[in-house]
Amino acid sequence: MRNLLWLQGGACSGNTLSLLNASDPDVFEFFSQHNIKLLWHPSLSLDSIGVKRIMEDIINGKIRLNIFVFEGSVILGPNNSGTFNMFAGKPMKDWVKYLAPLSEYIIAVGDCASFGGIPAADPNPTQSTGLQFFKKEIGGFLGKNFRTKSGLPIINISGCPAHPDWILTTISLISEGKMTEDMLDEFNRPKIFYSTTTQFGCPRQPYFTYKISSKELGHKEGCLYFDLGCRGAYTKSPCNSILWNNQSSKTRVGTPCMGCTEFDFPTFNFFHTEKNRSGIPKRLPLGMSRGTYVTFSAVAKGSAPQFLVRPLIKKKGDWIE
Ligand code: SF4
Repeated sequence: MRNLLWLQGGACSGNTLSLLNASDPDVFEFFSQHNIKLLWHPSLSLDSIGVKRIMEDIINGKIRLNIFVFEGSVILGPNNSGTFNMFAGKPMKDWVKYLAPLSEYIIAVGDCASFGGIPAADPNPTQSTGLQFFKKEIGGFLGKNFRTKSGLPIINISGCPAHPDWILTTISLISEGKMTEDMLDEFNRPKIFYSTTTQFGCPRQPYFTYKISSKELGHKEGCLYFDLGCRGAYTKSPCNSILWNNQSSKTRVGTPCMGCTEFDFPTFNFFHTEKNRSGIPKRLPLGMSRGTYVTFSAVAKGSAPQFLVRPLIKKKGDWIE
């Protein structure tokens, strides 16, 4: 039996809601199949007073903590006191400080726990940080060299929220003893989920290839990168291969990817592609140089097949550039 404790810092409970969307199996069936005992969870446990005793028993060595899941940012404010986020009589950051070295594995679930996320957006009034990263910088609350009892760093499952399958698959790899450090990327995210971009599996990719742009949110055709600020071409996530609610994704319904699995989320320029004076997007697709982009644009425009272009033309020049 493996003990799992889930705590929440600066969070909106979005990752909890996502977890509850797990199906086949649902979260309770999953825990029973994997021999996991849920010690406490802020939304699933009835007894909010008992958590203090559970945490003290872990600290006193009476209960083993196999998997510690933290949702939300670690709040350090005001003035590094952490008292903006009190929990069971102490700043939450202090509970994290005591529990972290006793944990066999720690999962930072969501972008806020991984990198600071929305609470850490400038001007970061709560002094929020991620568990082991602050945005791009390694360190965060626990420090660059922190390791759990298993020898692994914090495992980041970024996303706003993270998909339930990413969370449960990671927990299952841990509970089966199969998670190793070489399975993590440079931001300590499991590579099985974060090695391809959101573009992988996006049905709009043919439009990207031929630079056919959609300029209208929710439109069925066209790529959302060139005008509507889609970050799918440079965001690592499997949102178009492991679908949400087993059926859809943002780009499938005409909403641009907002890059919520990356360290720089949120960027607050949603639905708009920032371009330089020559009309070239400031953020280029992953691995593409400016020169390659210019060549790509010239070739793509001239070779776009009519069957892709036609549904988008309202009047000449309206949809394709
Ligand atoms: S840029 Fe966005 S909409 Fe276009 S193909 Fe990539 S993920 Fe899909």
